[in-house]
Amino acid sequence: MAKRVYLFGKDITEGNGSQRNLLGGKGAGLAEMAKRGFNVPPGFTITTDVCAEYYANKRKMPAGLDAEVKKAIAVLEKRTKKQFGGDKNPLLVAVRSGARESMPGMMDTILNLGLNEATVEALKAKSNNGRFAYDSYRRFIQMYSGVVLHIERLNENEHDPFEVIIAEARNKRGVLHDNQLPEEDLKAIIEKFKKLVLEKTGKHFPNDPYKQLEGAIGAVFASWMNERAILYRRKYKIPEEWGTAVNVQAMVFGNLGDSSGTGVAFTRNPANGENEFYGEFLVNAQGEDVVAGIRTPLKISAMATTPNLGHCHKELCEVRKQLEKEFGDVQDFEFTIEDGKLYILQTRNGKRTARAYVKISHDMVKQNLMSPEHAIASVEPESIEQLLAPVFHKEAYQKAINEKNLLTKGLPAGPGAATGTLAFTAEKAERWATHGPVVLARVETSPEDLRGMLAASGIVTAKGGVSSHAAVVARQMGKVCVVGASDIDINYSTGILTCGDKTIKEGEFISINGSTGEVLSGKIDTAPSELIQVLIDKTMNPKDSELFADYDFIMKLADKYRKLGIRTNADQPEQAINAVAFGAEGIGLCRTEHMFFKGDRIDYVREMIIFAPEYAEYKAKLASRPGDAVLLENEYHISIHHFNHALKELLPIQQADFEGLFTAMGDRPVTVRYLDPPLHEFLPSSKDQIDELARKLNVDFARVSQTVSSLQETNPMLGHRGCRLGIVYPEISEMQSRALFRAALAVAAKSKKTPKPEIMIPLVGFEREFELQLEIVHRVAKEEFAAAKRTLEYKVGTMIEIPRAAITAEQIAKHAEFFSFGTNDLTQTTLGMSRDDAGHFLPFYEKNAGIIKTNPFATLDQIGVGKLMEIAVQGGRKTRPNIKLGICGEHGGDPSSIEFCNDLGLSYVSCSPFRVPVARIAAAKSAVKASMAAKATVAVKTIAKKTAKRR
Ligand code: ADP
Ligand code: MG
Ligand code: MG
Repeated sequence: MAKRVYLFGKDITEGNGSQRNLLGGKGAGLAEMAKRGFNVPPGFTITTDVCAEYYANKRKMPAGLDAEVKKAIAVLEKRTKKQFGGDKNPLLVAVRSGARESMPGMMDTILNLGLNEATVEALKAKSNNGRFAYDSYRRFIQMYSGVVLHIERLNENEHDPFEVIIAEARNKRGVLHDNQLPEEDLKAIIEKFKKLVLEKTGKHFPNDPYKQLEGAIGAVFASWMNERAILYRRKYKIPEEWGTAVNVQAMVFGNLGDSSGTGVAFTRNPANGENEFYGEFLVNAQGEDVVAGIRTPLKISAMATTPNLGHCHKELCEVRKQLEKEFGDVQDFEFTIEDGKLYILQTRNGKRTARAYVKISHDMVKQNLMSPEHAIASVEPESIEQLLAPVFHKEAYQKAINEKNLLTKGLPAGPGAATGTLAFTAEKAERWATHGPVVLARVETSPEDLRGMLAASGIVTAKGGVSSHAAVVARQMGKVCVVGASDIDINYSTGILTCGDKTIKEGEFISINGSTGEVLSGKIDTAPSELIQVLIDKTMNPKDSELFADYDFIMKLADKYRKLGIRTNADQPEQAINAVAFGAEGIGLCRTEHMFFKGDRIDYVREMIIFAPEYAEYKAKLASRPGDAVLLENEYHISIHHFNHALKELLPIQQADFEGLFTAMGDRPVTVRYLDPPLHEFLPSSKDQIDELARKLNVDFARVSQTVSSLQETNPMLGHRGCRLGIVYPEISEMQSRALFRAALAVAAKSKKTPKPEIMIPLVGFEREFELQLEIVHRVAKEEFAAAKRTLEYKVGTMIEIPRAAITAEQIAKHAEFFSFGTNDLTQTTLGMSRDDAGHFLPFYEKNAGIIKTNPFATLDQIGVGKLMEIAVQGGRKTRPNIKLGICGEHGGDPSSIEFCNDLGLSYVSCSPFRVPVARIAAAKSAVKASMAAKATVAVKTIAKKTAKRR
């Protein structure tokens, strides 16, 4: 049978710091500290496996555990020279929970266990301090009754019944603090406590220390399933299977008088990373008094001048140094001083803000205190985005909160703070933005809002989730964005935004925080992040920014470790330049249709679309009746004219756009995806807009409106889109190819750089589809190279975004030089869930039914979609061993999806420009994790080999 109980303490420690899974974080930390000579009160850890047994056993202690616990207690008795339940020198213990990851305040701890009517008297005699003994007893009954006997307040409006009793006593005595109550008052309180227990449970408070211990251990296991813990796990994605360990440890007393105390400290400042001792303590106090906020604690530095404790301050400073040296990271630790003697009760890697993370890692790596691998492995990649966000000025924000200007909270979709005048339409946003910042508010956004979104400083929508159009585009632009603020009502016709009883009119100020989802009325001043000032705005000298120095150090370190290339999704030169400043090594996805919306070019796009169907009809007829060429040309001359005219106008416009991108990217690869969305997305829908377009094109209203309705599709996302457009209208692919090659040639001629175009055909499902498009690309390339009298290298590849493409990857790779996983569509088509409609049921799937753990449109469904990716990777490599593989869906910026891509051996991930730093560091972290795991496997294999040899 596996070992269930692990001892720790000077010279007897059985576990170690690497056994977090088995001993929990606290138990592992205690074991490691004891091994390394820190003064840890002795004790033992009951493993997380026992927790699993407890639940498998319908919440009962596994047989035999009590005997093991008794044995461990006997060891403790020997070491401390005290007796559990003894009436001379009683041993008291703390019973402490401790999961793999710390879950602060989520589970329960019980102190002073072992006290009863007899042992409390012994404690009093031994310490010669009755107040201390009865204070400890009072605390024990209170904690035990809450945690084990569940005597708690019934709801939030009620007071804790034990605190009520204590408050009465304080009032009667006329004192403010519990520690001012004399022994006799404490005794009276204890009597009342016991009466309350009898009333509430019908049983006497347990006197037998072993009974107490059994109850406490069970309660710690049970607390793993309390409501708080469950909620916390859900929020931080901690698996339920982990369970908690239980630590039973000899008590040390911080409440023994003025030469005692207790405290918590960080070895460095966890908010800003400064190398300063950061913590608090209380004199003559126990356990959680420090965090409970009953008395105001003192700063650690004040201990140096506190009577009786000056020497402990010195010792603590030594411990601080030692902990960092031994554990190789910032430590968050707990200590207690008993009668002038310092004990360390807990240590763990300190949680820190992103700002502190970069500073601490930079400093500690340079000081040789932290390994570079650990610096990378310990990052929360997601948090790096915090460093880029503009922020509200602190005082201005506080003022707004005080004035009750907080309207509601939506979903945080683009981090940072924005403040500006409220505008409901793209047109107004664009116009007003020339006078000052604007916040665009829409019920939801569509591609037509793009220019408004570009102009606005912030975007807020009433509908939509974290992968809605607004959220996706905002992330790509690095815009502050809040989506799904469902409490607000946006009335386009009255120009009034309502939230509860508050209203804001268009033109008035509104403020949003895309890191928290907050929406506030009024103006709150903001400031851009220093990183943006250095890298993007270039308004700050890198030398003047400490944040930049720290960030740059970590990013360069990350680049050393990562295996994945990092590209960006960008379709504007400015986005590309920004991405490069953040470290992008190429463009992984340029969505050409985004270029179609700029300025008045949309008119040509519309002209092309309106006449495309008839033009296609003309070509079909011509193919079957070549003899009637003149006749057909006459019959269709209007459509032929308009369709060709539109393409002719679009060609130089697209070319100029591509030139901009190639210029911005220089020698770096630029992947251009050909036209993808269904055509109706580009067309107007309202009667007025159709009327206007008809007039512009000089044709009847009926003709335009007919085309508009004929292009409507029931399932446009599965309709005539992607390469299917280029198959039916090859002229469009031809125009795009020509624009692209001309642009690349022009940039090559003008600059010393050699553009590296990579043409990407979307939504391929059949080998033949790809072949047909490939023919066009090659033909146009040949023509343009001949005209320019030079050639350029280029690649043609495809998106893998429908299951058929993944399954037939082996065939498609005969023609395609690269694959890029379009995981947005691949998720849609694999799950048969529309990204736009899934919001109706996905939240239920996630929260209520527990069918999925996370939104598959945000975090890759590795089991399903990931399987298809694996199949495609294998198929592609079989035909073309060195095929280049990338990912360009939204998942390309998601750390856990990036890890999957790293392990799959992809060549690069592509994400929006402002996600590039996150992707860079996430890629590095995955690589470090993978190499650590590989090393561990090698170690296991070596051991296995050695044992095999011995046999
Ligand atoms: P949490 O996980 O909530 O931090 P802990 O198990 O660390 O819970 O216990 C909370 C507090 O109880 C500690 O900060 C410490 O002050 C006190 N405590 C825990 N163990 C002991 C002990 N052996 N002796 C004295 N105080 C203890
Ligand atoms: Mg603790
Ligand atoms: Mg797609």
